Amino acid sequence: MESVRTLHVQDDKDGRVLLAVVAHELRTPISTLANAAAILRDVVGTNQVGVAALQLIERQTRVLTRLVSDLVDTTRIDTGKFSATFELIDVTEVLRWAAHTCKPAMQSRSHNFQALLTDGPLYVMADRDRLTQVFVNLLDNAIKYTPRGGMISVFATAEGAQAVVRVRDSGVGISDDALPCVFELFSQVATTKPMSNGGVGIGLALARSIVNMHKGTIQVRSEGSDTGSEFTVRLPLHSRRF
Ligand code: ADP
Repeated sequence: MESVRTLHVQDDKDGRVLLAVVAHELRTPISTLANAAAILRDVVGTNQVGVAALQLIERQTRVLTRLVSDLVDTTRIDTGKFSATFELIDVTEVLRWAAHTCKPAMQSRSHNFQALLTDGPLYVMADRDRLTQVFVNLLDNAIKYTPRGGMISVFATAEGAQAVVRVRDSGVGISDDALPCVFELFSQVATTKPMSNGGVGIGLALARSIVNMHKGTIQVRSEGSDTGSEFTVRLPLHSRRF
């Protein structure tokens, strides 16, 4: 049986407050590092050791930036301060943009990628940035939890009155007993931990909160270890009127 680890800070109010403060305080130094790395890019030229070191700094700074901004968002949800700006948007466009954002990470792990999107637009009322965050989180996980050279697919289609997006990978999969827990805050499946590269179990909890804010649902399916995983996001379609 696969064990699921959940940090107890989830039930500890002081711990959550401390986490929020630390996350908030980390934002400035991390963005300073990111700016410094951007300046170094102009200076380092073609020196191979310099370029490799710079790429490492950039990659890790991106991981830290994501982690901290997810933490900050989580505490905003906790305190009811998580805001969203709803507008009419095309889900397929957001999905394409999310995939584009994740392309370098996919390439760095030699993954294959396919997008099977319905021809026309799928209009929903949504916050563009938040929805992008959901798809990026799902794609990041698919990249992370799939051994090198795997297959990652995204699908977008209309089913009845819903826009349905699926993110599928050929990765390590999730066992039956772990499936119900993956959307819990700070939960990690023990067997996937070595691949998690700094994750702490925030991404899916945040994705679920955002999808719920949009009156949608998010579900996961996996046949078990090494059979890959599929995450499905359903959002109410908007009937566009001019
Ligand atoms: P983390 O930062 O640990 O990736 P998430 O909230 O995004 O946090 O995911 C929670 C846990 O769910 C992960 O630690 C991992 O065990 C499991 N998980 C998420 N996505 C996948 C996936 N595509 N394949 C296998 N396991 C996954």
